[in-house]
Amino acid sequence: MENKKKIAIIGAGPGGLAAGMLLSQLGYQVNIYEKNDRIGGRTALHKMGKYSFDVGPSALTMTHVLTSLFMDCNRNILDYVALLPINPIHTLYFKDITFPLYSDYSATKTVIKTYFPGEEDGFDRFMKENTKKMLYISPLNQFNYSSLFDFFRPTTIRALPSLSLGRSLMDDLARYFNSKYLRIAFSLQMRYLGMSPWDIPAAYSIIPFSEYYFGTFHPIGGQNKIVEAMQQVVMENKGKFYFNSEVTSFETNGNEITGAMLASGQSIKADYYFTNLDFMYSLTNKTTVKEKEKEYSASAFMLYLGLKTVLPFSHQSIIFPDNYREFANNTIHKKNLSKDLAIHITNPSATDNTMAPINHSSIRIMVSVPNNTSNIDWKEQTPDFRQLILDTVKERLEVPDLENYIEEEYIITPTDWEEKYHVKYGAIFGLQHLWNQQGFLHPTKKAPKFKNLFVIGAGAMASSSLPFIIENAQIATRKFLQKEKKSK
Ligand SMILES: Cc1cc2nc3c(=O)[nH]c(=O)nc-3n(C[C@H](O)[C@H](O)[C@H](O)COP(=O)(O)OP(=O)(O)OC[C@H]3O[C@@H](n4cnc5c(N)ncnc54)[C@H](O)[C@@H]3O)c2cc1C
Repeated sequence: MENKKKIAIIGAGPGGLAAGMLLSQLGYQVNIYEKNDRIGGRTALHKMGKYSFDVGPSALTMTHVLTSLFMDCNRNILDYVALLPINPIHTLYFKDITFPLYSDYSATKTVIKTYFPGEEDGFDRFMKENTKKMLYISPLNQFNYSSLFDFFRPTTIRALPSLSLGRSLMDDLARYFNSKYLRIAFSLQMRYLGMSPWDIPAAYSIIPFSEYYFGTFHPIGGQNKIVEAMQQVVMENKGKFYFNSEVTSFETNGNEITGAMLASGQSIKADYYFTNLDFMYSLTNKTTVKEKEKEYSASAFMLYLGLKTVLPFSHQSIIFPDNYREFANNTIHKKNLSKDLAIHITNPSATDNTMAPINHSSIRIMVSVPNNTSNIDWKEQTPDFRQLILDTVKERLEVPDLENYIEEEYIITPTDWEEKYHVKYGAIFGLQHLWNQQGFLHPTKKAPKFKNLFVIGAGAMASSSLPFIIENAQIATRKFLQKEKKSK
Protein backbone atom coordinates (compact mmCIF):
# COMPACT_ATOMS: atom_id res chain seq x y z
CA MET A 1 0.00 0.00 0.00
CA GLU A 2 1.41 3.38 -0.94
CA ASN A 3 2.32 5.68 1.93
CA LYS A 4 1.89 9.31 0.97
CA LYS A 5 3.95 10.94 3.73
CA LYS A 6 6.43 13.42 2.27
CA ILE A 7 10.17 13.21 2.81
CA ALA A 8 12.58 15.97 1.79
CA ILE A 9 16.18 14.88 1.28
CA ILE A 10 18.74 17.67 1.12
CA GLY A 11 21.69 16.73 -1.06
CA ALA A 12 21.95 14.15 -3.86
CA GLY A 13 25.31 12.63 -2.85
CA PRO A 14 25.55 8.86 -2.34
CA GLY A 15 24.16 9.28 1.21
CA GLY A 16 21.03 11.13 0.08
CA LEU A 17 20.54 8.78 -2.86
CA ALA A 18 20.86 5.61 -0.75
CA ALA A 19 18.29 6.95 1.73
CA GLY A 20 16.13 8.08 -1.20
CA MET A 21 16.18 4.56 -2.65
CA LEU A 22 15.13 2.92 0.62
CA LEU A 23 12.44 5.45 1.55
CA SER A 24 10.90 5.60 -1.94
CA GLN A 25 10.89 1.78 -1.99
CA LEU A 26 8.85 1.88 1.23
CA GLY A 27 6.25 4.02 -0.58
CA TYR A 28 7.11 7.43 0.87
CA GLN A 29 6.94 10.43 -1.40
CA VAL A 30 10.62 11.37 -1.73
CA ASN A 31 11.77 14.76 -3.02
CA ILE A 32 15.51 15.34 -3.30
CA TYR A 33 16.82 18.94 -3.30
CA GLU A 34 20.34 19.37 -4.70
CA LYS A 35 22.24 22.64 -4.91
CA ASN A 36 24.14 21.61 -8.06
CA ASP A 37 22.72 20.80 -11.48
CA ARG A 38 23.65 17.11 -11.15
CA ILE A 39 23.72 14.23 -8.71
CA GLY A 40 26.74 12.69 -7.01
CA GLY A 41 28.46 15.30 -4.84
CA ARG A 42 32.02 14.08 -4.29
CA THR A 43 31.13 10.93 -6.27
CA ALA A 44 29.93 12.84 -9.34
CA LEU A 45 30.94 12.44 -12.97
CA HIS A 46 33.16 15.20 -14.35
CA LYS A 47 33.00 15.44 -18.11
CA MET A 48 35.49 17.43 -20.22
CA GLY A 49 34.94 17.12 -23.97
CA LYS A 50 35.36 13.48 -24.88
CA TYR A 51 36.91 12.57 -21.50
CA SER A 52 35.04 11.27 -18.41
CA PHE A 53 36.41 11.40 -14.87
CA ASP A 54 35.30 10.37 -11.42
CA VAL A 55 35.61 13.42 -9.20
CA GLY A 56 36.18 11.34 -6.07
CA PRO A 57 36.28 7.56 -5.57
CA SER A 58 38.74 5.55 -7.61
CA ALA A 59 37.93 2.05 -6.35
CA LEU A 60 34.99 0.25 -4.81
CA THR A 61 35.39 -2.51 -2.27
CA MET A 62 32.91 -4.48 -0.11
CA THR A 63 30.51 -4.66 -3.08
CA HIS A 64 28.18 -6.85 -1.00
CA VAL A 65 27.03 -3.69 0.81
CA LEU A 66 25.95 -2.13 -2.48
CA THR A 67 24.31 -5.41 -3.49
CA SER A 68 22.35 -5.44 -0.22
CA LEU A 69 21.13 -1.87 -0.79
CA PHE A 70 19.75 -2.85 -4.20
CA MET A 71 18.28 -6.06 -2.74
CA ASP A 72 16.51 -3.97 -0.06
CA CYS A 73 14.88 -2.22 -3.02
CA ASN A 74 14.02 -5.47 -4.78
CA ARG A 75 16.61 -4.84 -7.46
CA ASN A 76 19.69 -6.59 -8.79
CA ILE A 77 22.68 -4.24 -8.86
CA LEU A 78 24.01 -6.04 -11.93
CA ASP A 79 20.97 -4.88 -13.92
CA TYR A 80 22.24 -1.33 -13.40
CA VAL A 81 26.05 -1.44 -13.16
CA ALA A 82 28.72 -3.71 -14.66
CA LEU A 83 31.59 -4.17 -12.22
CA LEU A 84 35.11 -4.98 -13.41
CA PRO A 85 37.80 -6.18 -11.00
CA ILE A 86 40.78 -3.84 -10.70
CA ASN A 87 43.87 -5.98 -11.02
CA PRO A 88 46.49 -5.24 -9.88
CA ILE A 89 44.80 -3.18 -7.16
CA HIS A 90 47.74 -0.81 -7.40
CA THR A 91 51.38 -0.58 -8.43
CA LEU A 92 53.63 1.03 -5.85
CA TYR A 93 56.59 3.16 -6.92
CA PHE A 94 59.18 3.62 -4.20
CA LYS A 95 62.47 5.23 -5.19
CA ASP A 96 64.37 1.94 -5.10
CA ILE A 97 61.67 -0.63 -5.77
CA THR A 98 58.42 -0.94 -7.77
CA PHE A 99 55.91 -3.72 -7.28
CA PRO A 100 52.20 -4.45 -7.95
CA LEU A 101 49.74 -5.94 -5.46
CA TYR A 102 46.71 -7.97 -6.50
CA SER A 103 43.32 -8.83 -5.02
CA ASP A 104 44.14 -12.42 -5.92
CA TYR A 105 45.57 -13.91 -2.72
CA SER A 106 48.17 -16.16 -4.29
CA ALA A 107 49.31 -13.50 -6.79
CA THR A 108 50.02 -11.05 -3.94
CA LYS A 109 51.71 -13.76 -1.93
CA THR A 110 53.95 -14.54 -4.90
CA VAL A 111 54.87 -10.85 -5.27
CA ILE A 112 55.73 -10.64 -1.57
CA LYS A 113 57.76 -13.84 -1.72
CA THR A 114 59.66 -12.58 -4.79
CA TYR A 115 60.42 -9.05 -3.59
CA PHE A 116 60.51 -9.64 0.19
CA PRO A 117 61.47 -13.29 0.76
CA GLY A 118 60.31 -14.58 4.14
CA GLU A 119 57.59 -11.91 4.56
CA GLU A 120 54.87 -14.05 2.95
CA ASP A 121 54.08 -15.69 6.29
CA GLY A 122 53.35 -12.24 7.72
CA PHE A 123 50.86 -11.69 4.88
CA ASP A 124 49.15 -15.00 5.71
CA ARG A 125 48.88 -13.99 9.37
CA PHE A 126 47.67 -10.47 8.48
CA MET A 127 44.86 -11.89 6.35
CA LYS A 128 43.91 -14.59 8.85
CA GLU A 129 43.82 -12.33 11.90
CA ASN A 130 42.01 -9.57 10.04
CA THR A 131 39.32 -12.00 8.87
CA LYS A 132 38.49 -12.49 12.54
CA LYS A 133 38.82 -8.76 13.25
CA MET A 134 36.40 -8.00 10.40
CA LEU A 135 33.86 -10.49 11.75
CA TYR A 136 33.89 -8.82 15.17
CA ILE A 137 34.12 -5.20 14.04
CA SER A 138 31.61 -5.22 11.12
CA PRO A 139 28.50 -5.61 13.31
CA LEU A 140 29.51 -2.44 15.19
CA ASN A 141 28.64 -0.44 12.06
CA GLN A 142 25.02 -1.45 12.56
CA PHE A 143 24.63 0.54 15.78
CA ASN A 144 23.89 4.16 16.17
CA TYR A 145 26.18 4.67 19.20
CA SER A 146 24.17 7.58 20.50
CA SER A 147 25.01 6.97 24.15
CA LEU A 148 27.64 5.41 26.39
CA PHE A 149 25.13 2.61 26.97
CA ASP A 150 25.68 1.39 23.40
CA PHE A 151 29.30 0.62 24.30
CA PHE A 152 28.16 -1.98 26.79
CA ARG A 153 26.30 -4.08 24.27
CA PRO A 154 27.61 -7.68 24.15
CA THR A 155 28.59 -7.18 20.49
CA THR A 156 30.82 -4.23 21.40
CA ILE A 157 32.38 -6.00 24.36
CA ARG A 158 33.12 -9.06 22.20
CA ALA A 159 34.80 -6.79 19.64
CA LEU A 160 37.02 -5.00 22.17
CA PRO A 161 40.17 -7.13 21.71
CA SER A 162 39.88 -6.66 17.92
CA LEU A 163 39.90 -2.89 18.31
CA SER A 164 43.56 -3.09 19.46
CA LEU A 165 42.97 0.03 21.56
CA GLY A 166 46.04 2.19 22.17
CA ARG A 167 47.88 0.89 19.10
CA SER A 168 48.27 2.76 15.81
CA LEU A 169 47.92 1.04 12.46
CA MET A 170 51.69 1.31 11.82
CA ASP A 171 52.45 -0.30 15.21
CA ASP A 172 50.01 -3.06 14.35
CA LEU A 173 51.57 -3.70 10.93
CA ALA A 174 54.98 -4.06 12.55
CA ARG A 175 53.59 -7.29 14.08
CA TYR A 176 53.28 -8.75 10.57
CA PHE A 177 55.89 -7.14 8.33
CA ASN A 178 59.57 -6.29 8.82
CA SER A 179 59.85 -4.43 5.54
CA LYS A 180 58.94 -0.73 5.72
CA TYR A 181 57.69 -1.02 2.13
CA LEU A 182 55.14 -3.65 3.09
CA ARG A 183 54.00 -1.68 6.13
CA ILE A 184 53.37 1.26 3.83
CA ALA A 185 51.70 -0.98 1.22
CA PHE A 186 49.21 -2.21 3.83
CA SER A 187 48.45 1.24 5.22
CA LEU A 188 48.42 3.50 2.16
CA GLN A 189 44.61 3.11 2.10
CA MET A 190 44.56 5.66 4.92
CA ARG A 191 44.70 8.26 2.16
CA TYR A 192 40.97 7.44 1.70
CA LEU A 193 40.50 8.70 5.24
CA GLY A 194 42.85 11.67 4.96
CA MET A 195 44.88 10.43 7.92
CA SER A 196 48.40 9.36 8.74
CA PRO A 197 48.90 5.59 9.26
CA TRP A 198 51.01 6.56 12.26
CA ASP A 199 47.95 8.20 13.92
CA ILE A 200 44.97 6.09 12.90
CA PRO A 201 43.86 3.38 15.35
CA ALA A 202 44.90 -0.18 14.51
CA ALA A 203 41.23 -1.20 14.14
CA TYR A 204 41.36 0.38 10.67
CA SER A 205 43.57 -2.44 9.35
CA ILE A 206 40.24 -3.87 8.16
CA ILE A 207 40.32 -1.30 5.34
CA PRO A 208 43.49 -2.57 3.59
CA PHE A 209 42.34 -6.08 4.48
CA SER A 210 39.00 -5.45 2.70
CA GLU A 211 40.76 -4.52 -0.53
CA TYR A 212 42.62 -7.84 -0.57
CA TYR A 213 39.79 -9.96 0.80
CA PHE A 214 36.82 -8.56 -1.16
CA GLY A 215 38.77 -7.17 -4.12
CA THR A 216 38.43 -3.71 -5.65
CA PHE A 217 36.12 -2.90 -8.53
CA HIS A 218 35.55 -0.34 -11.24
CA PRO A 219 32.04 0.07 -12.67
CA ILE A 220 32.15 0.42 -16.46
CA GLY A 221 31.87 4.17 -17.07
CA GLY A 222 33.31 4.98 -13.66
CA GLN A 223 32.36 5.05 -9.99
CA ASN A 224 29.79 7.73 -10.87
CA LYS A 225 27.69 4.95 -12.48
CA ILE A 226 26.87 3.83 -8.95
CA VAL A 227 25.16 7.12 -8.10
CA GLU A 228 23.49 7.12 -11.52
CA ALA A 229 22.04 3.67 -10.74
CA MET A 230 20.84 4.92 -7.35
CA GLN A 231 19.13 7.89 -8.99
CA GLN A 232 17.44 5.57 -11.47
CA VAL A 233 15.93 3.46 -8.67
CA VAL A 234 14.64 6.58 -6.88
CA MET A 235 13.00 7.72 -10.14
CA GLU A 236 11.55 4.27 -10.83
CA ASN A 237 9.97 4.59 -7.37
CA LYS A 238 8.50 7.98 -8.40
CA GLY A 239 10.94 10.00 -6.28
CA LYS A 240 11.59 13.50 -7.63
CA PHE A 241 14.79 15.52 -8.04
CA TYR A 242 15.01 19.31 -7.78
CA PHE A 243 18.36 20.59 -9.07
CA ASN A 244 19.87 24.05 -8.54
CA SER A 245 17.90 24.01 -5.28
CA GLU A 246 20.19 24.99 -2.43
CA VAL A 247 18.63 24.79 1.01
CA THR A 248 19.79 27.82 2.97
CA SER A 249 17.95 27.43 6.28
CA PHE A 250 15.51 25.32 8.25
CA GLU A 251 12.38 26.64 9.89
CA THR A 252 11.65 25.04 13.25
CA ASN A 253 9.21 25.23 16.12
CA GLY A 254 11.99 24.15 18.49
CA ASN A 255 10.82 20.56 18.43
CA GLU A 256 10.47 19.78 14.78
CA ILE A 257 11.61 21.08 11.41
CA THR A 258 8.61 22.84 9.89
CA GLY A 259 10.13 23.82 6.56
CA ALA A 260 13.32 24.22 4.54
CA MET A 261 14.06 27.46 2.79
CA LEU A 262 15.61 27.38 -0.68
CA ALA A 263 17.99 30.05 -1.98
CA SER A 264 15.19 31.07 -4.38
CA GLY A 265 13.10 32.07 -1.34
CA GLN A 266 10.70 29.15 -1.76
CA SER A 267 9.85 27.26 1.41
CA ILE A 268 9.47 23.48 1.08
CA LYS A 269 7.33 21.46 3.43
CA ALA A 270 7.67 17.79 4.32
CA ASP A 271 6.79 15.42 7.14
CA TYR A 272 10.43 14.35 7.54
CA TYR A 273 13.78 15.85 6.51
CA PHE A 274 16.98 13.93 5.79
CA THR A 275 20.16 15.99 5.46
CA ASN A 276 23.05 14.73 3.37
CA LEU A 277 25.20 17.82 3.90
CA ASP A 278 28.69 17.75 5.30
CA PHE A 279 27.54 17.98 8.91
CA MET A 280 30.44 20.19 9.99
CA TYR A 281 29.80 22.61 7.10
CA SER A 282 26.07 22.34 7.64
CA LEU A 283 24.07 25.05 5.83
CA THR A 284 26.12 28.11 6.64
CA ASN A 285 29.75 27.09 7.24
CA LYS A 286 29.75 28.97 10.54
CA THR A 287 32.41 27.66 12.95
CA THR A 288 31.83 27.37 16.67
CA VAL A 289 34.76 27.17 19.09
CA LYS A 290 34.03 23.46 19.65
CA GLU A 291 34.04 22.76 15.90
CA LYS A 292 37.36 24.55 15.56
CA GLU A 293 38.88 22.29 18.20
CA LYS A 294 38.07 19.13 16.23
CA GLU A 295 40.74 17.31 14.23
CA TYR A 296 39.92 17.35 10.51
CA SER A 297 41.20 15.02 7.80
CA ALA A 298 43.58 16.13 5.08
CA SER A 299 42.33 17.70 1.88
CA ALA A 300 43.46 16.87 -1.66
CA PHE A 301 44.80 18.70 -4.68
CA MET A 302 43.28 17.10 -7.78
CA LEU A 303 44.46 17.23 -11.36
CA TYR A 304 42.23 15.71 -14.06
CA LEU A 305 43.99 15.27 -17.41
CA GLY A 306 42.49 14.29 -20.76
CA LEU A 307 45.42 12.83 -22.70
CA LYS A 308 45.69 12.07 -26.41
CA THR A 309 47.67 8.95 -25.68
CA VAL A 310 47.49 5.74 -23.69
CA LEU A 311 50.00 5.30 -20.90
CA PRO A 312 51.30 1.94 -19.70
CA PHE A 313 50.21 2.58 -16.07
CA SER A 314 48.04 0.21 -14.10
CA HIS A 315 44.59 1.33 -12.92
CA GLN A 316 46.11 2.83 -9.76
CA SER A 317 49.76 3.85 -9.36
CA ILE A 318 51.14 5.33 -6.20
CA ILE A 319 54.40 7.23 -6.13
CA PHE A 320 56.05 7.48 -2.72
CA PRO A 321 58.49 10.08 -1.47
CA ASP A 322 61.76 9.15 0.26
CA ASN A 323 60.23 9.78 3.65
CA TYR A 324 56.50 8.97 3.67
CA ARG A 325 56.16 9.63 7.39
CA GLU A 326 57.53 13.13 6.97
CA PHE A 327 55.11 13.72 4.06
CA ALA A 328 52.17 12.58 6.24
CA ASN A 329 53.41 14.69 9.13
CA ASN A 330 53.76 17.80 6.95
CA THR A 331 50.30 17.31 5.50
CA ILE A 332 48.39 16.49 8.64
CA HIS A 333 50.22 18.02 11.57
CA LYS A 334 52.56 20.78 10.36
CA LYS A 335 50.09 21.77 7.60
CA ASN A 336 52.87 22.49 5.10
CA LEU A 337 53.26 21.45 1.49
CA SER A 338 56.04 18.93 0.87
CA LYS A 339 58.49 19.09 -2.01
CA ASP A 340 58.84 15.31 -2.21
CA LEU A 341 55.29 14.08 -2.84
CA ALA A 342 53.13 11.01 -2.47
CA ILE A 343 50.99 10.93 -5.62
CA HIS A 344 48.03 8.71 -6.44
CA ILE A 345 47.38 8.32 -10.15
CA THR A 346 44.20 6.70 -11.41
CA ASN A 347 44.17 5.49 -14.97
CA PRO A 348 40.73 3.86 -15.46
CA SER A 349 41.51 3.35 -19.15
CA ALA A 350 43.68 0.42 -18.01
CA THR A 351 40.44 -1.42 -17.12
CA ASP A 352 37.68 0.31 -19.05
CA ASN A 353 37.80 1.76 -22.58
CA THR A 354 34.67 3.90 -22.15
CA MET A 355 36.23 6.69 -20.09
CA ALA A 356 38.08 8.15 -23.08
CA PRO A 357 38.10 7.53 -26.86
CA ILE A 358 40.40 4.89 -28.30
CA ASN A 359 44.09 5.83 -27.99
CA HIS A 360 43.23 8.50 -25.42
CA SER A 361 43.00 8.36 -21.63
CA SER A 362 41.46 10.14 -18.66
CA ILE A 363 44.00 10.38 -15.87
CA ARG A 364 43.16 11.56 -12.36
CA ILE A 365 45.98 12.65 -10.08
CA MET A 366 45.40 13.11 -6.36
CA VAL A 367 47.85 14.50 -3.81
CA SER A 368 47.02 14.73 -0.10
CA VAL A 369 47.52 18.30 1.08
CA PRO A 370 46.71 20.19 4.29
CA ASN A 371 43.09 21.16 4.85
CA ASN A 372 42.07 24.80 5.00
CA THR A 373 43.05 25.25 8.65
CA SER A 374 46.49 25.85 7.08
CA ASN A 375 47.50 29.27 5.78
CA ILE A 376 48.08 28.08 2.22
CA ASP A 377 46.88 30.51 -0.44
CA TRP A 378 45.85 28.16 -3.24
CA LYS A 379 45.47 30.90 -5.83
CA GLU A 380 49.13 31.68 -5.39
CA GLN A 381 50.38 28.11 -4.92
CA THR A 382 48.46 26.29 -7.66
CA PRO A 383 50.71 26.91 -10.72
CA ASP A 384 53.94 25.83 -8.95
CA PHE A 385 52.31 22.91 -7.17
CA ARG A 386 50.74 21.63 -10.42
CA GLN A 387 54.17 21.80 -12.08
CA LEU A 388 55.83 19.96 -9.17
CA ILE A 389 53.25 17.17 -9.51
CA LEU A 390 53.72 16.90 -13.28
CA ASP A 391 57.53 16.95 -12.97
CA THR A 392 57.41 14.20 -10.33
CA VAL A 393 55.10 12.01 -12.43
CA LYS A 394 57.23 12.58 -15.55
CA GLU A 395 60.40 11.55 -13.75
CA ARG A 396 59.15 8.73 -11.56
CA LEU A 397 56.88 7.07 -14.13
CA GLU A 398 59.27 7.78 -16.98
CA VAL A 399 56.92 9.79 -19.19
CA PRO A 400 59.08 12.87 -19.98
CA ASP A 401 56.70 14.06 -22.71
CA LEU A 402 53.52 13.82 -20.57
CA GLU A 403 52.62 17.49 -21.02
CA ASN A 404 52.64 17.17 -24.83
CA TYR A 405 49.60 14.89 -24.60
CA ILE A 406 47.38 17.09 -22.42
CA GLU A 407 44.21 18.05 -24.30
CA GLU A 408 41.96 18.87 -21.35
CA GLU A 409 42.80 19.81 -17.80
CA TYR A 410 40.87 20.59 -14.65
CA ILE A 411 42.06 21.29 -11.11
CA ILE A 412 40.30 21.10 -7.75
CA THR A 413 42.07 22.71 -4.78
CA PRO A 414 41.15 22.60 -1.07
CA THR A 415 39.55 26.03 -1.53
CA ASP A 416 37.28 24.56 -4.22
CA TRP A 417 36.29 21.63 -2.00
CA GLU A 418 35.12 24.12 0.59
CA GLU A 419 33.56 26.75 -1.68
CA LYS A 420 32.05 24.61 -4.45
CA TYR A 421 31.44 21.31 -2.65
CA HIS A 422 30.58 22.76 0.78
CA VAL A 423 33.05 20.56 2.63
CA LYS A 424 34.24 22.07 5.93
CA TYR A 425 37.89 23.23 5.66
CA GLY A 426 38.04 21.24 2.38
CA ALA A 427 38.65 18.19 4.62
CA ILE A 428 37.18 15.78 2.07
CA PHE A 429 37.17 12.80 4.43
CA GLY A 430 35.48 14.66 7.29
CA LEU A 431 36.72 14.50 10.83
CA GLN A 432 39.78 12.40 11.56
CA HIS A 433 38.88 8.87 12.61
CA LEU A 434 40.05 9.17 16.19
CA TRP A 435 38.33 7.47 19.12
CA ASN A 436 37.46 10.80 20.74
CA GLN A 437 35.52 11.91 17.61
CA GLN A 438 33.51 8.75 17.06
CA GLY A 439 30.39 7.00 18.31
CA PHE A 440 28.52 9.03 20.90
CA LEU A 441 31.38 11.56 20.90
CA HIS A 442 30.74 12.39 17.21
CA PRO A 443 29.37 15.96 16.87
CA THR A 444 26.15 14.71 15.19
CA LYS A 445 25.24 13.06 18.48
CA LYS A 446 25.63 16.33 20.39
CA ALA A 447 23.65 18.47 17.93
CA PRO A 448 20.18 19.80 18.79
CA LYS A 449 17.62 17.08 18.12
CA PHE A 450 14.54 17.60 15.99
CA LYS A 451 11.96 14.83 15.97
CA ASN A 452 11.66 14.73 12.18
CA LEU A 453 15.29 15.33 11.15
CA PHE A 454 17.79 12.60 10.21
CA VAL A 455 21.47 13.08 9.36
CA ILE A 456 22.94 10.83 6.67
CA GLY A 457 26.07 10.66 4.51
CA ALA A 458 29.77 10.82 5.25
CA GLY A 459 29.36 13.74 7.64
CA ALA A 460 27.18 11.67 9.94
CA MET A 461 29.75 9.15 11.04
CA ALA A 462 33.33 8.12 11.34
CA SER A 463 33.96 6.70 7.92
CA SER A 464 33.64 8.37 4.59
CA SER A 465 33.84 5.52 2.10
CA LEU A 466 30.85 4.39 0.06
CA PRO A 467 30.07 1.09 1.82
CA PHE A 468 29.87 2.85 5.20
CA ILE A 469 27.73 5.65 3.76
CA ILE A 470 25.30 3.03 2.44
CA GLU A 471 25.19 1.20 5.77
CA ASN A 472 24.55 4.50 7.50
CA ALA A 473 21.55 5.20 5.21
CA GLN A 474 20.22 1.73 6.07
CA ILE A 475 20.59 2.47 9.80
CA ALA A 476 18.90 5.88 9.46
CA THR A 477 16.01 4.28 7.58
CA ARG A 478 15.54 1.68 10.32
CA LYS A 479 15.61 4.40 12.97
CA PHE A 480 13.06 6.36 10.96
CA LEU A 481 10.76 3.34 10.68
CA GLN A 482 10.92 2.79 14.45
CA LYS A 483 9.84 6.42 14.93
CA GLU A 484 7.02 6.00 12.42
CA LYS A 485 5.83 2.86 14.21
CA LYS A 486 5.85 4.63 17.59
CA SER A 487 3.92 7.59 16.21
CA LYS A 488 1.10 5.33 14.95
C1 LIG B 1 39.21 12.82 -4.01
C2 LIG B 1 38.31 11.81 -3.33
C3 LIG B 1 38.61 10.47 -3.41
C4 LIG B 1 37.76 9.52 -2.81
N1 LIG B 1 38.04 8.19 -2.94
C5 LIG B 1 37.15 7.27 -2.45
C6 LIG B 1 37.31 5.89 -2.74
O1 LIG B 1 38.22 5.48 -3.48
N2 LIG B 1 36.39 5.01 -2.23
C7 LIG B 1 35.31 5.45 -1.49
O2 LIG B 1 34.48 4.63 -1.06
N3 LIG B 1 35.12 6.77 -1.22
C8 LIG B 1 36.01 7.67 -1.69
N4 LIG B 1 35.80 9.01 -1.48
C9 LIG B 1 34.72 9.41 -0.57
C10 LIG B 1 33.36 9.61 -1.22
O3 LIG B 1 33.44 10.20 -2.48
C11 LIG B 1 32.56 10.56 -0.37
O4 LIG B 1 32.71 10.21 0.98
C12 LIG B 1 31.08 10.53 -0.70
O5 LIG B 1 30.82 11.09 -1.96
C13 LIG B 1 30.33 11.33 0.35
O6 LIG B 1 28.97 11.14 0.11
P1 LIG B 1 27.90 12.07 0.80
O7 LIG B 1 26.60 11.70 0.20
O8 LIG B 1 28.01 11.98 2.26
O9 LIG B 1 28.35 13.57 0.46
P2 LIG B 1 28.63 14.32 -0.95
O10 LIG B 1 29.12 13.34 -1.97
O11 LIG B 1 29.50 15.44 -0.60
O12 LIG B 1 27.18 14.81 -1.35
C14 LIG B 1 26.54 15.87 -0.68
C15 LIG B 1 25.58 16.53 -1.67
O13 LIG B 1 24.86 17.57 -0.99
C16 LIG B 1 24.79 18.69 -1.84
N5 LIG B 1 24.59 19.89 -1.01
C17 LIG B 1 25.49 20.45 -0.16
N6 LIG B 1 24.94 21.52 0.45
C18 LIG B 1 23.66 21.62 -0.01
C19 LIG B 1 22.58 22.50 0.29
N7 LIG B 1 22.70 23.47 1.19
N8 LIG B 1 21.39 22.31 -0.35
C20 LIG B 1 21.24 21.28 -1.24
N9 LIG B 1 22.24 20.42 -1.56
C21 LIG B 1 23.43 20.57 -0.95
C22 LIG B 1 26.12 18.69 -2.56
O14 LIG B 1 26.09 19.47 -3.73
C23 LIG B 1 26.30 17.19 -2.84
O15 LIG B 1 25.71 16.80 -4.05
C24 LIG B 1 36.62 9.96 -2.09
C25 LIG B 1 36.31 11.33 -2.01
C26 LIG B 1 37.15 12.24 -2.63
C27 LIG B 1 36.76 13.71 -2.58
